[in-house]
Amino acid sequence: MTRVTTVKRWDRQTDVVVVGSGLAGLAAAIEARIAGSDVLVLEKMKGYGGNSAISDGVMAAAGTALQRRAGIVDSADRMAEDMRRAGLGLNQADLVHTVAQRSVEAFRWTIDFLGMTYQKRVDQFGGHSVPRCYTPLRRSGSQYIRPMLDKAAQLGAAIRTRTCLETIVRDTDGRVCGVAVRQGRSTSDAGPGERVWIRARRAVVLATGGFANDIAFRTAQDPRLSAAVGSTNKTCTTAEALREAMRIGAMPVHLSWIQLGPWACPDEKMYGVGPDFASYVAFPYGILVNPDTGRRIVNELADRKTRADAILAVGHPCISMTDQNGVVHSGHEIGHCLRRGVVQSFESLEALAAYYDMPRDAFLDTVRAFNQGAAKREDGLFGKPILAGAGPLETPPFYAMRTFPKVHHTMGGVLIDTRARVLDLQRAPIEGLYAAGEVAGGIHGACRLGSCAITDCLVFGRIAGQNAGRTVLPR
Ligand SMILES: Cc1cc2nc3c(=O)[nH]c(=O)nc-3n(C[C@H](O)[C@H](O)[C@H](O)COP(=O)(O)OP(=O)(O)OC[C@H]3O[C@@H](n4cnc5c(N)ncnc54)[C@H](O)[C@@H]3O)c2cc1C
Repeated sequence: MTRVTTVKRWDRQTDVVVVGSGLAGLAAAIEARIAGSDVLVLEKMKGYGGNSAISDGVMAAAGTALQRRAGIVDSADRMAEDMRRAGLGLNQADLVHTVAQRSVEAFRWTIDFLGMTYQKRVDQFGGHSVPRCYTPLRRSGSQYIRPMLDKAAQLGAAIRTRTCLETIVRDTDGRVCGVAVRQGRSTSDAGPGERVWIRARRAVVLATGGFANDIAFRTAQDPRLSAAVGSTNKTCTTAEALREAMRIGAMPVHLSWIQLGPWACPDEKMYGVGPDFASYVAFPYGILVNPDTGRRIVNELADRKTRADAILAVGHPCISMTDQNGVVHSGHEIGHCLRRGVVQSFESLEALAAYYDMPRDAFLDTVRAFNQGAAKREDGLFGKPILAGAGPLETPPFYAMRTFPKVHHTMGGVLIDTRARVLDLQRAPIEGLYAAGEVAGGIHGACRLGSCAITDCLVFGRIAGQNAGRTVLPR
Protein backbone atom coordinates (compact mmCIF):
# COMPACT_ATOMS: atom_id res chain seq x y z
CA MET A 1 0.00 0.00 0.00
CA THR A 2 1.38 3.45 -0.79
CA ARG A 3 0.57 6.48 1.31
CA VAL A 4 0.76 9.31 -1.20
CA THR A 5 1.42 12.86 0.00
CA THR A 6 0.48 15.62 -2.40
CA VAL A 7 3.08 18.36 -2.53
CA LYS A 8 1.96 21.72 -3.92
CA ARG A 9 5.42 23.24 -4.16
CA TRP A 10 8.92 22.03 -3.36
CA ASP A 11 10.89 24.67 -1.46
CA ARG A 12 14.26 23.09 -2.17
CA GLN A 13 15.75 20.28 -4.26
CA THR A 14 18.74 18.01 -4.03
CA ASP A 15 19.70 14.53 -5.21
CA VAL A 16 20.00 12.73 -1.88
CA VAL A 17 18.53 13.77 1.46
CA VAL A 18 20.23 12.13 4.44
CA VAL A 19 18.33 12.43 7.72
CA GLY A 20 20.62 12.29 10.75
CA SER A 21 24.24 13.37 11.27
CA GLY A 22 25.55 10.43 13.30
CA LEU A 23 27.96 7.82 11.99
CA ALA A 24 25.48 6.19 9.64
CA GLY A 25 24.24 9.49 8.20
CA LEU A 26 27.69 10.99 7.65
CA ALA A 27 29.02 7.75 6.12
CA ALA A 28 26.05 7.79 3.74
CA ALA A 29 26.51 11.49 2.90
CA ILE A 30 30.21 11.00 2.10
CA GLU A 31 29.57 8.02 -0.18
CA ALA A 32 26.63 9.64 -1.94
CA ARG A 33 28.82 12.67 -2.71
CA ILE A 34 31.62 10.43 -3.96
CA ALA A 35 29.03 8.73 -6.19
CA GLY A 36 28.41 12.14 -7.74
CA SER A 37 25.14 13.21 -6.12
CA ASP A 38 24.23 16.49 -4.50
CA VAL A 39 23.67 15.78 -0.82
CA LEU A 40 21.78 17.54 1.94
CA VAL A 41 22.09 16.24 5.52
CA LEU A 42 19.29 17.18 7.91
CA GLU A 43 19.86 17.15 11.66
CA LYS A 44 17.18 18.07 14.16
CA MET A 45 19.55 18.96 17.01
CA LYS A 46 21.69 22.09 17.33
CA GLY A 47 24.87 20.00 17.24
CA TYR A 48 26.04 17.18 15.00
CA GLY A 49 26.83 13.59 15.69
CA GLY A 50 23.88 12.17 17.66
CA ASN A 51 24.65 9.31 19.99
CA SER A 52 27.61 8.42 17.84
CA ALA A 53 29.48 11.45 19.15
CA ILE A 54 29.08 10.45 22.81
CA SER A 55 29.77 6.77 22.25
CA ASP A 56 33.03 5.11 23.20
CA GLY A 57 33.61 4.54 19.51
CA VAL A 58 34.81 0.97 19.99
CA MET A 59 34.49 -0.94 16.75
CA ALA A 60 34.59 -4.65 15.93
CA ALA A 61 36.42 -6.10 12.92
CA ALA A 62 37.29 -9.72 12.23
CA GLY A 63 40.56 -10.66 10.55
CA THR A 64 42.68 -7.54 11.00
CA ALA A 65 46.46 -7.30 10.86
CA LEU A 66 46.40 -6.25 14.53
CA GLN A 67 44.73 -9.52 15.45
CA ARG A 68 47.14 -11.56 13.35
CA ARG A 69 50.12 -9.88 15.01
CA ALA A 70 48.63 -10.78 18.41
CA GLY A 71 48.15 -14.39 17.29
CA ILE A 72 44.34 -14.12 17.34
CA VAL A 73 42.63 -16.38 14.84
CA ASP A 74 39.39 -14.81 13.62
CA SER A 75 37.15 -14.65 10.58
CA ALA A 76 34.00 -12.95 9.30
CA ASP A 77 32.13 -16.23 9.76
CA ARG A 78 33.19 -16.40 13.38
CA MET A 79 32.11 -12.81 14.03
CA ALA A 80 28.76 -13.42 12.32
CA GLU A 81 28.29 -16.56 14.40
CA ASP A 82 28.97 -14.60 17.63
CA MET A 83 26.47 -11.92 16.58
CA ARG A 84 23.85 -14.55 15.76
CA ARG A 85 24.38 -16.41 19.02
CA ALA A 86 23.87 -13.21 21.03
CA GLY A 87 20.94 -12.26 18.77
CA LEU A 88 19.24 -15.59 19.54
CA GLY A 89 19.22 -16.33 15.83
CA LEU A 90 16.66 -13.57 15.16
CA ASN A 91 19.22 -11.67 13.07
CA GLN A 92 18.70 -11.61 9.31
CA ALA A 93 21.59 -13.85 8.23
CA ASP A 94 22.49 -11.86 5.10
CA LEU A 95 22.64 -8.58 7.01
CA VAL A 96 24.84 -9.98 9.78
CA HIS A 97 27.08 -11.55 7.20
CA THR A 98 27.42 -8.23 5.36
CA VAL A 99 28.48 -6.43 8.55
CA ALA A 100 31.03 -9.10 9.47
CA GLN A 101 32.32 -9.55 5.92
CA ARG A 102 32.88 -5.82 5.44
CA SER A 103 34.11 -5.08 8.96
CA VAL A 104 37.80 -5.01 8.06
CA GLU A 105 37.15 -2.80 5.03
CA ALA A 106 35.19 -0.37 7.26
CA PHE A 107 37.96 -0.41 9.87
CA ARG A 108 40.59 0.27 7.20
CA TRP A 109 38.39 3.09 5.81
CA THR A 110 38.45 4.87 9.16
CA ILE A 111 42.25 4.69 9.16
CA ASP A 112 43.09 5.25 5.49
CA PHE A 113 40.27 7.63 4.52
CA LEU A 114 39.38 9.36 7.79
CA GLY A 115 42.91 9.29 9.23
CA MET A 116 41.83 7.79 12.55
CA THR A 117 44.18 6.23 15.07
CA TYR A 118 43.37 3.49 17.55
CA GLN A 119 44.87 2.31 20.81
CA LYS A 120 47.36 -0.47 20.22
CA ARG A 121 45.24 -3.14 21.88
CA VAL A 122 42.57 -5.59 20.84
CA ASP A 123 39.85 -6.12 23.46
CA GLN A 124 37.35 -8.91 23.90
CA PHE A 125 33.93 -7.60 24.89
CA GLY A 126 31.13 -9.76 26.30
CA GLY A 127 29.70 -12.25 23.80
CA HIS A 128 32.67 -12.09 21.39
CA SER A 129 34.52 -15.40 21.23
CA VAL A 130 37.90 -13.74 20.53
CA PRO A 131 39.41 -10.26 20.99
CA ARG A 132 38.28 -8.12 17.99
CA CYS A 133 37.32 -4.72 19.49
CA TYR A 134 39.36 -1.59 18.64
CA THR A 135 39.27 1.59 20.68
CA PRO A 136 39.96 5.02 19.15
CA LEU A 137 42.94 6.74 20.74
CA ARG A 138 40.81 8.90 23.05
CA ARG A 139 37.95 6.36 23.34
CA SER A 140 35.26 8.57 21.89
CA GLY A 141 32.92 8.37 18.92
CA SER A 142 33.61 12.06 18.31
CA GLN A 143 36.92 10.90 16.87
CA TYR A 144 34.97 9.56 13.89
CA ILE A 145 32.48 12.42 13.69
CA ARG A 146 35.03 15.23 13.39
CA PRO A 147 36.90 13.87 10.35
CA MET A 148 33.64 12.71 8.80
CA LEU A 149 32.17 16.22 9.06
CA ASP A 150 35.36 17.59 7.50
CA LYS A 151 35.26 15.06 4.66
CA ALA A 152 31.56 15.68 4.03
CA ALA A 153 32.21 19.44 3.88
CA GLN A 154 35.28 19.05 1.63
CA LEU A 155 33.23 16.91 -0.72
CA GLY A 156 30.52 19.56 -0.82
CA ALA A 157 27.71 17.94 1.18
CA ALA A 158 25.41 20.55 2.77
CA ILE A 159 24.32 20.08 6.40
CA ARG A 160 21.42 21.82 8.12
CA THR A 161 20.94 21.55 11.87
CA ARG A 162 17.72 22.25 13.85
CA THR A 163 15.80 20.69 10.98
CA CYS A 164 13.47 17.91 12.01
CA LEU A 165 12.02 15.34 9.60
CA GLU A 166 8.24 15.22 9.89
CA THR A 167 6.96 13.64 6.67
CA ILE A 168 8.40 11.24 4.12
CA VAL A 169 6.80 11.92 0.75
CA ARG A 170 5.83 9.07 -1.61
CA ASP A 171 4.58 9.91 -5.07
CA THR A 172 1.75 8.20 -6.92
CA ASP A 173 4.13 5.43 -8.08
CA GLY A 174 5.02 4.69 -4.47
CA ARG A 175 8.50 6.09 -4.87
CA VAL A 176 9.95 8.20 -2.04
CA CYS A 177 10.63 11.57 -3.63
CA GLY A 178 11.23 13.94 -0.74
CA VAL A 179 10.55 15.01 2.81
CA ALA A 180 8.83 17.71 4.79
CA VAL A 181 10.83 19.14 7.67
CA ARG A 182 10.34 21.58 10.46
CA GLN A 183 13.19 24.06 10.30
CA GLY A 184 14.40 25.89 13.41
CA ARG A 185 13.22 23.13 15.70
CA SER A 186 14.94 20.41 17.69
CA THR A 187 14.03 17.97 20.42
CA SER A 188 15.57 20.28 22.98
CA ASP A 189 14.18 23.39 21.31
CA ALA A 190 10.59 22.65 20.33
CA GLY A 191 9.71 26.01 18.75
CA PRO A 192 6.99 26.09 16.08
CA GLY A 193 9.57 26.16 13.26
CA GLU A 194 8.92 26.62 9.58
CA ARG A 195 7.59 23.73 7.46
CA VAL A 196 9.76 23.21 4.39
CA TRP A 197 9.31 20.68 1.54
CA ILE A 198 12.55 19.24 0.16
CA ARG A 199 12.57 17.19 -3.01
CA ALA A 200 15.05 14.29 -3.18
CA ARG A 201 15.59 13.58 -6.86
CA ARG A 202 17.36 10.27 -6.24
CA ALA A 203 16.71 9.07 -2.70
CA VAL A 204 16.20 9.66 1.00
CA VAL A 205 18.49 7.94 3.53
CA LEU A 206 17.10 7.51 7.03
CA ALA A 207 19.89 7.53 9.60
CA THR A 208 17.95 8.82 12.57
CA GLY A 209 19.31 6.49 15.26
CA GLY A 210 17.41 4.64 17.96
CA PHE A 211 14.48 5.42 20.27
CA ALA A 212 15.91 4.78 23.76
CA ASN A 213 14.53 8.08 25.07
CA ASP A 214 11.05 7.81 23.56
CA ILE A 215 9.22 6.63 26.66
CA ALA A 216 5.80 6.24 24.95
CA PHE A 217 7.30 4.22 22.10
CA ARG A 218 9.62 2.09 24.20
CA THR A 219 7.06 1.21 26.88
CA ALA A 220 4.67 0.15 24.12
CA GLN A 221 7.33 -2.40 23.14
CA ASP A 222 8.60 -3.29 26.62
CA PRO A 223 6.42 -2.08 29.52
CA ARG A 224 9.24 -2.71 32.02
CA LEU A 225 11.10 0.27 30.60
CA SER A 226 9.16 3.09 32.22
CA ALA A 227 10.62 6.55 32.81
CA ALA A 228 11.99 5.18 36.09
CA VAL A 229 14.63 3.24 34.12
CA GLY A 230 17.53 5.47 33.07
CA SER A 231 19.08 5.69 29.61
CA THR A 232 22.64 6.15 28.44
CA ASN A 233 21.50 8.00 25.32
CA LYS A 234 21.24 11.63 24.25
CA THR A 235 17.77 13.20 24.21
CA CYS A 236 17.70 13.02 20.40
CA THR A 237 16.83 9.31 20.50
CA THR A 238 13.11 9.61 19.85
CA ALA A 239 11.07 7.65 17.32
CA GLU A 240 9.30 10.22 15.14
CA ALA A 241 11.24 9.31 12.00
CA LEU A 242 10.72 5.60 12.62
CA ARG A 243 6.97 6.19 13.13
CA GLU A 244 6.90 8.10 9.86
CA ALA A 245 8.70 5.30 8.00
CA MET A 246 6.15 2.86 9.37
CA ARG A 247 3.32 5.17 8.36
CA ILE A 248 4.44 5.10 4.74
CA GLY A 249 4.62 1.32 4.81
CA ALA A 250 8.09 0.25 6.01
CA MET A 251 8.34 -3.15 7.71
CA PRO A 252 9.11 -2.81 11.43
CA VAL A 253 11.18 -5.60 13.01
CA HIS A 254 12.40 -6.50 16.51
CA LEU A 255 11.03 -3.32 18.10
CA SER A 256 10.63 -4.94 21.50
CA TRP A 257 14.25 -6.07 21.66
CA ILE A 258 15.61 -3.13 23.60
CA GLN A 259 19.08 -3.44 24.99
CA LEU A 260 19.98 -2.45 28.50
CA GLY A 261 23.60 -1.71 29.36
CA PRO A 262 24.36 -4.04 32.30
CA TRP A 263 27.37 -1.97 33.32
CA ALA A 264 25.58 1.27 34.19
CA CYS A 265 25.54 3.00 37.56
CA PRO A 266 22.22 4.30 38.95
CA ASP A 267 24.06 6.98 40.95
CA GLU A 268 24.81 9.14 37.90
CA LYS A 269 22.97 10.39 34.78
CA MET A 270 23.19 8.95 31.24
CA TYR A 271 26.25 6.87 30.38
CA GLY A 272 28.51 8.56 32.92
CA VAL A 273 31.77 7.01 34.01
CA GLY A 274 30.46 3.86 35.71
CA PRO A 275 30.79 1.73 32.56
CA ASP A 276 34.51 2.54 32.47
CA PHE A 277 34.80 0.61 35.71
CA ALA A 278 32.23 -2.15 35.29
CA SER A 279 32.82 -2.93 31.64
CA TYR A 280 36.59 -2.60 31.43
CA VAL A 281 37.72 -3.49 34.94
CA ALA A 282 35.23 -5.20 37.27
CA PHE A 283 33.46 -7.53 34.83
CA PRO A 284 36.60 -8.87 33.14
CA TYR A 285 38.81 -8.80 36.25
CA GLY A 286 36.33 -9.16 39.10
CA ILE A 287 32.81 -10.28 39.94
CA LEU A 288 29.20 -9.05 40.20
CA VAL A 289 27.27 -9.96 43.33
CA ASN A 290 23.75 -9.59 44.69
CA PRO A 291 24.08 -7.60 47.93
CA ASP A 292 21.13 -9.51 49.46
CA THR A 293 22.94 -12.83 49.20
CA GLY A 294 26.62 -11.95 48.70
CA ARG A 295 26.58 -14.39 45.75
CA ARG A 296 27.47 -13.98 42.06
CA ILE A 297 24.50 -13.95 39.72
CA VAL A 298 25.86 -14.37 36.18
CA ASN A 299 28.89 -14.86 33.95
CA GLU A 300 30.18 -11.29 34.04
CA LEU A 301 31.44 -11.65 30.45
CA ALA A 302 28.19 -13.01 29.00
CA ASP A 303 26.39 -10.96 26.37
CA ARG A 304 24.63 -7.80 27.52
CA LYS A 305 21.14 -9.25 27.57
CA THR A 306 22.11 -12.20 29.76
CA ARG A 307 23.80 -9.88 32.24
CA ALA A 308 21.09 -7.18 32.24
CA ASP A 309 18.31 -9.75 32.63
CA ALA A 310 20.15 -11.30 35.57
CA ILE A 311 20.32 -7.92 37.37
CA LEU A 312 16.71 -7.05 36.48
CA ALA A 313 15.66 -10.40 37.94
CA VAL A 314 17.33 -9.41 41.21
CA GLY A 315 15.25 -6.22 41.03
CA HIS A 316 17.71 -3.74 42.53
CA PRO A 317 21.33 -2.66 42.01
CA CYS A 318 24.03 -5.33 42.36
CA ILE A 319 27.66 -4.73 43.26
CA SER A 320 30.47 -5.05 40.71
CA MET A 321 33.89 -5.29 42.34
CA THR A 322 37.55 -6.08 41.82
CA ASP A 323 40.89 -5.56 43.57
CA GLN A 324 44.00 -3.50 42.87
CA ASN A 325 45.49 -6.27 40.73
CA GLY A 326 42.37 -6.28 38.57
CA VAL A 327 42.74 -2.55 37.94
CA VAL A 328 46.42 -2.94 37.06
CA HIS A 329 45.84 -5.88 34.72
CA SER A 330 42.93 -4.13 33.01
CA GLY A 331 45.28 -1.34 31.99
CA HIS A 332 42.52 1.18 32.74
CA GLU A 333 42.59 4.27 34.89
CA ILE A 334 39.68 4.54 37.41
CA GLY A 335 40.68 7.73 39.24
CA HIS A 336 37.86 9.66 37.57
CA CYS A 337 35.28 7.06 38.74
CA LEU A 338 36.54 7.40 42.33
CA ARG A 339 36.59 11.21 42.18
CA ARG A 340 32.98 11.27 41.01
CA GLY A 341 31.98 8.98 43.88
CA VAL A 342 30.62 6.38 41.48
CA VAL A 343 33.22 3.79 42.52
CA GLN A 344 34.18 3.32 46.18
CA SER A 345 37.45 1.94 47.49
CA PHE A 346 37.89 -0.30 50.56
CA GLU A 347 40.87 -1.57 52.49
CA SER A 348 39.30 -4.98 53.10
CA LEU A 349 36.61 -7.26 51.71
CA GLU A 350 34.88 -7.06 55.11
CA ALA A 351 34.64 -3.27 54.85
CA LEU A 352 33.22 -3.59 51.33
CA ALA A 353 30.56 -6.08 52.54
CA ALA A 354 29.63 -3.83 55.47
CA TYR A 355 29.29 -0.73 53.27
CA TYR A 356 26.77 -2.45 50.97
CA ASP A 357 25.07 -4.25 53.86
CA MET A 358 25.97 -7.66 52.39
CA PRO A 359 26.05 -10.92 54.38
CA ARG A 360 29.77 -10.95 55.11
CA ASP A 361 30.46 -14.66 55.34
CA ALA A 362 28.55 -15.46 52.16
CA PHE A 363 30.44 -12.73 50.29
CA LEU A 364 33.84 -13.91 51.57
CA ASP A 365 32.86 -17.42 50.56
CA THR A 366 31.96 -16.17 47.06
CA VAL A 367 35.33 -14.44 46.66
CA ARG A 368 37.15 -17.53 47.96
CA ALA A 369 35.38 -19.80 45.46
CA PHE A 370 36.12 -17.39 42.59
CA ASN A 371 39.78 -17.16 43.64
CA GLN A 372 40.19 -20.94 43.76
CA GLY A 373 38.76 -21.25 40.25
CA ALA A 374 40.78 -18.31 38.93
CA ALA A 375 44.01 -19.95 40.13
CA LYS A 376 43.13 -22.90 37.86
CA ARG A 377 41.90 -20.55 35.11
CA GLU A 378 38.36 -21.83 35.34
CA ASP A 379 35.00 -20.60 36.60
CA GLY A 380 33.08 -23.63 37.82
CA LEU A 381 29.94 -21.59 38.57
CA PHE A 382 29.19 -19.78 35.29
CA GLY A 383 31.97 -20.77 32.89
CA LYS A 384 33.25 -17.24 32.57
CA PRO A 385 36.52 -17.07 30.60
CA ILE A 386 39.28 -16.20 33.07
CA LEU A 387 41.45 -13.62 31.32
CA ALA A 388 45.20 -13.45 31.84
CA GLY A 389 45.69 -11.44 35.05
CA ALA A 390 42.13 -11.98 36.35
CA GLY A 391 41.95 -13.09 40.00
CA PRO A 392 42.59 -14.03 42.68
CA LEU A 393 40.83 -11.05 44.31
CA GLU A 394 43.03 -10.53 47.35
CA THR A 395 45.06 -7.35 46.90
CA PRO A 396 43.68 -4.21 48.54
CA PRO A 397 42.35 -1.71 47.90
CA PHE A 398 39.15 -3.33 46.68
CA TYR A 399 36.93 -1.29 44.40
CA ALA A 400 33.14 -1.54 44.00
CA MET A 401 30.21 0.13 42.24
CA ARG A 402 26.41 -0.12 42.47
CA THR A 403 25.40 -1.53 39.12
CA PHE A 404 21.96 -1.45 37.44
CA PRO A 405 21.03 -1.56 33.73
CA LYS A 406 20.05 1.50 31.66
CA VAL A 407 18.36 1.58 28.25
CA HIS A 408 21.24 1.66 25.81
CA HIS A 409 20.39 0.45 22.33
CA THR A 410 17.27 -0.34 20.35
CA MET A 411 17.85 -3.30 18.06
CA GLY A 412 14.54 -2.88 16.25
CA GLY A 413 13.78 -0.58 13.36
CA VAL A 414 12.84 -0.75 9.71
CA LEU A 415 13.87 -3.85 7.80
CA ILE A 416 16.51 -3.29 5.13
CA ASP A 417 18.15 -5.56 2.58
CA THR A 418 21.88 -5.93 1.92
CA ARG A 419 21.73 -2.86 -0.34
CA ALA A 420 20.28 -0.86 2.61
CA ARG A 421 16.97 -0.46 0.80
CA VAL A 422 14.01 -0.17 3.17
CA LEU A 423 11.56 -3.01 2.68
CA ASP A 424 7.79 -2.75 2.83
CA LEU A 425 5.24 -5.06 4.44
CA GLN A 426 5.51 -7.42 1.45
CA ARG A 427 9.30 -7.33 1.81
CA ALA A 428 9.65 -5.43 -1.45
CA PRO A 429 12.02 -2.43 -1.55
CA ILE A 430 10.40 0.97 -1.15
CA GLU A 431 11.90 2.76 -4.10
CA GLY A 432 13.98 5.78 -3.17
CA LEU A 433 14.22 4.97 0.56
CA TYR A 434 17.34 3.66 2.30
CA ALA A 435 18.15 3.25 5.99
CA ALA A 436 21.28 2.59 8.03
CA GLY A 437 22.46 2.59 11.62
CA GLU A 438 20.29 2.14 14.66
CA VAL A 439 17.06 3.05 12.86
CA ALA A 440 17.47 -0.11 10.77
CA GLY A 441 16.41 -3.39 12.37
CA GLY A 442 17.15 -7.06 11.80
CA ILE A 443 20.94 -6.94 12.06
CA HIS A 444 21.52 -7.60 15.74
CA GLY A 445 18.41 -9.63 16.54
CA ALA A 446 17.72 -9.98 20.27
CA CYS A 447 21.00 -8.52 21.45
CA ARG A 448 23.70 -6.31 19.95
CA LEU A 449 27.24 -7.18 20.90
CA GLY A 450 29.33 -4.30 22.24
CA SER A 451 31.38 -2.65 19.44
CA CYS A 452 29.19 -4.02 16.63
CA ALA A 453 27.00 -0.90 16.28
CA ILE A 454 29.84 1.27 15.04
CA THR A 455 30.74 -1.39 12.48
CA ASP A 456 27.09 -1.72 11.45
CA CYS A 457 26.69 2.08 11.07
CA LEU A 458 29.83 2.39 8.96
CA VAL A 459 29.14 -0.64 6.77
CA PHE A 460 25.48 0.06 6.08
CA GLY A 461 25.87 3.85 6.12
CA ARG A 462 28.40 3.56 3.31
CA ILE A 463 26.28 1.03 1.41
CA ALA A 464 23.21 3.26 1.74
CA GLY A 465 25.15 6.28 0.47
CA GLN A 466 26.70 4.39 -2.44
CA ASN A 467 23.34 3.06 -3.60
CA ALA A 468 21.37 6.23 -2.93
CA GLY A 469 24.00 8.30 -4.73
CA ARG A 470 23.83 6.08 -7.79
CA THR A 471 20.05 5.72 -7.90
CA VAL A 472 18.91 6.31 -11.45
CA LEU A 473 16.94 9.55 -11.74
CA PRO A 474 13.27 8.80 -12.34
CA ARG A 475 11.93 9.97 -15.70
C1 LIG B 1 27.06 6.23 25.63
C2 LIG B 1 27.10 5.28 24.46
C3 LIG B 1 28.27 4.57 24.18
C4 LIG B 1 28.29 3.72 23.08
N1 LIG B 1 29.47 3.10 22.77
C5 LIG B 1 29.51 2.29 21.69
C6 LIG B 1 30.72 1.67 21.32
O1 LIG B 1 31.77 1.89 21.92
N2 LIG B 1 30.71 0.82 20.25
C7 LIG B 1 29.56 0.56 19.54
O2 LIG B 1 29.60 -0.21 18.59
N3 LIG B 1 28.41 1.19 19.86
C8 LIG B 1 28.35 2.04 20.90
N4 LIG B 1 27.19 2.67 21.20
C9 LIG B 1 26.05 2.55 20.28
C10 LIG B 1 26.32 3.42 19.06
O3 LIG B 1 26.97 4.59 19.45
C11 LIG B 1 25.03 3.79 18.34
O4 LIG B 1 24.27 2.66 18.06
C12 LIG B 1 25.37 4.49 17.02
O5 LIG B 1 26.23 5.59 17.25
C13 LIG B 1 24.11 4.98 16.33
O6 LIG B 1 24.51 5.74 15.22
P1 LIG B 1 23.41 6.31 14.23
O7 LIG B 1 24.15 7.04 13.19
O8 LIG B 1 22.49 5.23 13.83
O9 LIG B 1 22.54 7.29 15.15
P2 LIG B 1 22.99 8.60 15.92
O10 LIG B 1 24.44 8.70 16.06
O11 LIG B 1 22.18 8.68 17.16
O12 LIG B 1 22.54 9.75 14.93
C14 LIG B 1 21.19 9.93 14.61
C15 LIG B 1 20.97 11.40 14.38
O13 LIG B 1 19.68 11.57 13.77
C16 LIG B 1 19.07 12.73 14.32
N5 LIG B 1 17.62 12.62 14.17
C17 LIG B 1 16.78 11.75 14.79
N6 LIG B 1 15.52 11.97 14.41
C18 LIG B 1 15.56 12.98 13.51
C19 LIG B 1 14.56 13.67 12.78
N7 LIG B 1 13.26 13.36 12.90
N8 LIG B 1 14.94 14.68 11.94
C20 LIG B 1 16.26 15.02 11.83
N9 LIG B 1 17.25 14.41 12.53
C21 LIG B 1 16.90 13.40 13.36
C22 LIG B 1 19.51 12.71 15.76
O14 LIG B 1 19.39 13.98 16.37
C23 LIG B 1 20.94 12.22 15.66
O15 LIG B 1 21.86 13.27 15.57
C24 LIG B 1 27.14 3.54 22.29
C25 LIG B 1 25.97 4.24 22.58
C26 LIG B 1 25.95 5.11 23.66
C27 LIG B 1 24.69 5.86 23.96
